[in-house]
Amino acid sequence: KDGKAKDDGANYDIGLQDVGDGTGVVTRFPPEPSGYLHIGHAKAALLNDYFAHEKYKGKLILRFDDTNPTKEKQEFQDAIVEDLALMGIKPDQVSYTSDYFDHLYEVCVQLIKDGGAYADDTAQDRMREERMDGIASARREASVEDNLAHFEEMKKGSEEGLKWCIRAKMSVDDPNKALRDPVIYRCNPEAHHRTGSTWKIYPTYDFCCPIVDSLEGVTHALRTTEYNDRDAQYQWFIKTLKLRGVYNWGFARLNFIRTLLSKRKLTKIVDEGVVTGWDDARMPTIRGVRRRGVQVPALREFILKQGPSKNIVNMDWNSFWATNKKHIDPVAARYTAIADANKVPVTVVGHTGGTTIEEKAKHAKYDLGKKKVVFSKDILMEQEDAQSFAQGEEITLMNWGNAIVKNISHSINPLSAHGFKTVTGLELELHLQGDVKTTSKKVTWLSKDQNLVPVELVDFDYLITKDKLEEEDKLEDFLNKKTETRVKAVADLNVADLKVDDVFQFDRKGYFRVDKAFQHGEPLVAYKIPTGGK
Ligand code: ATP
Ligand code: MG
Ligand code: MG
Repeated sequence: KDGKAKDDGANYDIGLQDVGDGTGVVTRFPPEPSGYLHIGHAKAALLNDYFAHEKYKGKLILRFDDTNPTKEKQEFQDAIVEDLALMGIKPDQVSYTSDYFDHLYEVCVQLIKDGGAYADDTAQDRMREERMDGIASARREASVEDNLAHFEEMKKGSEEGLKWCIRAKMSVDDPNKALRDPVIYRCNPEAHHRTGSTWKIYPTYDFCCPIVDSLEGVTHALRTTEYNDRDAQYQWFIKTLKLRGVYNWGFARLNFIRTLLSKRKLTKIVDEGVVTGWDDARMPTIRGVRRRGVQVPALREFILKQGPSKNIVNMDWNSFWATNKKHIDPVAARYTAIADANKVPVTVVGHTGGTTIEEKAKHAKYDLGKKKVVFSKDILMEQEDAQSFAQGEEITLMNWGNAIVKNISHSINPLSAHGFKTVTGLELELHLQGDVKTTSKKVTWLSKDQNLVPVELVDFDYLITKDKLEEEDKLEDFLNKKTETRVKAVADLNVADLKVDDVFQFDRKGYFRVDKAFQHGEPLVAYKIPTGGK
């Protein structure tokens, strides 16, 4: 299924540089296979796809930035491919940074020989301080021979090699700290998911990116604006290594309130069991938001609407859900559910002719087919509705007509100081000639004389309690304690036919997505889909 909306409304005039007729434009999406894609990644992927395939007739490369074996897995790589396909993104080429490990190694050796890089064993903290203060490393002026020898030691993954890294000799004290001798190679003896134990040294993203972009013919490297400071570094490699030029183009990172969009933190909450997995409906992953009921064309539309702006904002989820509502409303059939707790048996006086079944439209505005509505003398209603009725009041039974409240039976809860009463039974008298426009209560009901379907309605809340977590905030301190509410209910017989992923509406309860169908007497599980309104 192609997730691409016919018209997602995107058309950016702020173009890229030197595009000519557009056929030569090459962009790339470079995920690290260290987690599942989240909606921030979706923005990066969709923008690259937009420029390569919609705005221009160029090429899109999917490149796995697989340079850190400690974090990467085949499972993540496969999921990324699937999720991109789901979003309607078809890369013209798939590549792996690890395919270039031989080449990158040779480039590094040459850079060392040319005096453009050196081996360093300064302790991490110390190195950080020196970079902050613009102090040269004690190893900065080491000889080429020494540097090459240390690099060879690193390559063996020996204990000695592990103490070293390679740094590009850019600057000690440039005001742009990204230029203060960045690390370009690290030693890591762990096995890589593609190259196994061939390598014990891995190039950093900063080093690979310009080289591989240039080699693969990328014309425009799109990056989030936090990388702006690193553009100069990127261009230093292009120039120093005499590579074909590549433009850097920045766009705003996507952030949402009360939402983690850092793979490190998402990995943590998955590993610690705060959520059930990467596809938990509370996760901001593509799989998570889909499970919550987001339609792929809505995701595309929402993200492309953000456009190529460079202003970073902390988005509110409301407009996201409002966009999604436009997509789900026309396809959401209407059904009825009544909460199980204290549901009220009601006798409909004046209903003659026993149990009847009528065919009704599944949606008032769109043709989604018909459903069965069962009419009978014995029906069920919600406790909350029954509580609100006054003796003699005229109300409307949805999809049926008006009725007058005749008799209300209560049980008095002796524990309640305020005399809280549970309605234990009701008698209604049909008044079908009554005008439904004159009543203030339109209530849902279900005939008891049908195979009612047990359902579980699940609603979710944000995982964190603070709009924006700061760097110094401890995640544990801001985890929401209750993020899931489950309510048991019964639904009309049509609901038995719903399939996983179907999106529908329970009258007066809102939109839902089927997470588990009704089967073997086990309840159907439906996830509430937010709509951005209150
Ligand atoms: P994290 O920082 O969460 O670990 P990452 O950026 O390191 O994520 P990558 O797999 O390297 O994860 O990201 C692939 C691409 O997605 C990169 O080009 C990155 O800039 C982009 N990206 C990541 N997060 C966002 C975001 N929130 N908004 C827009 N683009 C993003
Ligand atoms: Mg990254
Ligand atoms: Mg990152």
